[in-house]
Amino acid sequence: MGFLSGKKVLVVGLATDRSIAWGISQVMKREGAELAFSYQNERIKDRVAELADKLGTSLVMPMDVGIDDEIGAAFSRLKSEWGGLDVIVHSVAFAPREALLGSFVESTTREAFATAHDVSSYSLTALARAGLPLMEGRPGALLTMSYLGAVRSIPSYNVMGLAKASLESNVRFLAADLGPRGIRVNAISAGPIKTLAAAGIPGFRKMLHHVEQLAPLKRNVTTEDVGNAAAFLCSDLAAGITGEVLYVDSGYSHVGMSFPE
Ligand code: NAD
Repeated sequence: MGFLSGKKVLVVGLATDRSIAWGISQVMKREGAELAFSYQNERIKDRVAELADKLGTSLVMPMDVGIDDEIGAAFSRLKSEWGGLDVIVHSVAFAPREALLGSFVESTTREAFATAHDVSSYSLTALARAGLPLMEGRPGALLTMSYLGAVRSIPSYNVMGLAKASLESNVRFLAADLGPRGIRVNAISAGPIKTLAAAGIPGFRKMLHHVEQLAPLKRNVTTEDVGNAAAFLCSDLAAGITGEVLYVDSGYSHVGMSFPE
């Protein structure tokens, strides 16, 4: 029996079979979870439905996390299909492409700042608020995905770093607020992985190479590495952990200095 047996999990942020959300979903399924998926828009609907089918679910709903009515509709559907919910995986981020190009000060417009923070950070609060009535009374868990850019400057990551800093703070405030109701809230700060979202970051290949050279484990992480940690954090095995940002990055964030061989 898997350690997520009997858990009902909503995964938000699946786009392709390279998505971190896909790695997380596969591991959670392996550990016995029952899954539901949301997709951002019609453009990716069929692909997400196909992937969901591979993991044995047809519970696939539209939900743009920037639109409150769509969030409301998705959680109403979950309520009628499942009655309750144990886990929400939030694996979503967005910043306008031009905000990830060149100089931070020149590319960070008011509009790009607002969009990045709305989609990448506020959406976690919005999902927590919508999911709370379904999670109350059970040992619930929320998990989101962060990156080192939340706490260090990273070339081209620009306004997304600020949005991730907000997201990590969001995790701590939600953890404090929801802990007394039995709901835990954590983040994974993953090392770079080649996904659709990552393709929008100029110089991404250099980032992968850099980590491979300097990280203690001398390799990049996989979506399965992240999935294993995610499944643990969302399971009762992690019952004593909340408000945490867990680094799954081959140890890169702990290195002060390293000389490539
Ligand atoms: P991805 O492109 O596969 O996933 C990003 C998802 O965000 C997509 O499913 C997209 O549809 C969704 N999304 C964007 N705007 C949305 C909206 N308005 N409403 C609903 N969904 C929306 O890329 P990924 O790398 O798997 O990204 C998942 C998460 O992991 C993101 O938060 C990202 O910042 C984070 N992360 C990625 C890396 C990396 O190197 N790939 C590293 C650390 C953290």
